[in-house]
Amino acid sequence: MSTTKGTFSEFVFSAMPGFDESSFRKLFAQAIHLKTIVIHCFDPRAVEIPEVVARHFPGEIYPGENVIDEAGNRVGHTRTLFPVSVAGGRAVAGLQSISTMEHLFGFENVVVVHHSFCGATSFTADGMLDAYKHEHGVDISGAYDRGSISISDFESSLKYDVDLVRSSPGVPAHVNVYGFFYNIDTGELTEVVRDVPSSGAE
Ligand SMILES: [Zn+2]
Repeated sequence: MSTTKGTFSEFVFSAMPGFDESSFRKLFAQAIHLKTIVIHCFDPRAVEIPEVVARHFPGEIYPGENVIDEAGNRVGHTRTLFPVSVAGGRAVAGLQSISTMEHLFGFENVVVVHHSFCGATSFTADGMLDAYKHEHGVDISGAYDRGSISISDFESSLKYDVDLVRSSPGVPAHVNVYGFFYNIDTGELTEVVRDVPSSGAE
């Protein structure tokens, strides 16, 4: 043995006897039929966003249910839409999830949703960076991309995030990218930006 087994290693796929990485990828792609990743704000007042987006796109299943094998193990799920809940629903925080999900399952759409009266609209990038200097004595201006910190205009923030997803090397070129505004009081979902590659264009 070249490695020492750690605690809970019996729950790790790659630690199983005879593990084969490419076989596991095929199994994963069969276990979940992923179509859409939704990046939205973790504001609890906006918790229904994944369900609202699932209703908007035909054929989506959310929340779905576990797929159980004969032994009672959870081996899959019927959900087709996976939410990524982050501050402000800013796309930058979802990029690593997008690449991971593409590797494991493949998918078709990324939907970024920003919502009315989001906390991210209550401050500016400069305000947050200055506050960090005064309150924590640290300069975090190099840690985050300035355009991803706050929201001052929803059309701009959605366009920014759709462009960020589109230009990320970890996002497959065939993926459709959408930006939606969600009104948390009326439940209305409005498409603001659509970046859908024309078929055949590569
Ligand atoms: Zn928010």
